[in-house]
Amino acid sequence: MWKGECFVFDNRVSVKHDLAVGSYFICSGCRNPISPKDKKSKKYEEGVSCSRCYDTLTNTQKTRFRMRQRQITLAKRVGKKHKFQKEF
Ligand SMILES: [Zn+2]
Repeated sequence: MWKGECFVFDNRVSVKHDLAVGSYFICSGCRNPISPKDKKSKKYEEGVSCSRCYDTLTNTQKTRFRMRQRQITLAKRVGKKHKFQKEF
């Protein structure tokens, strides 16, 4: 799905084919699109996991994703785009 080693991580992807809808969120844990319904799941955590991958992620991964999410939040606060190494 992603090309190259780096990508700008802003949690959104535009779905341009069949769906006429604008932007979807993408799960940081499994790279699947997250619907508003998924977001209500107890297993959904922004920048970490969704109901689909929550049970498959290790605590180490979750901890790492949380740290990364914190950096994204900080980066957004100062109005910068943050580039992250691809981790998979
Ligand atoms: Zn997921």
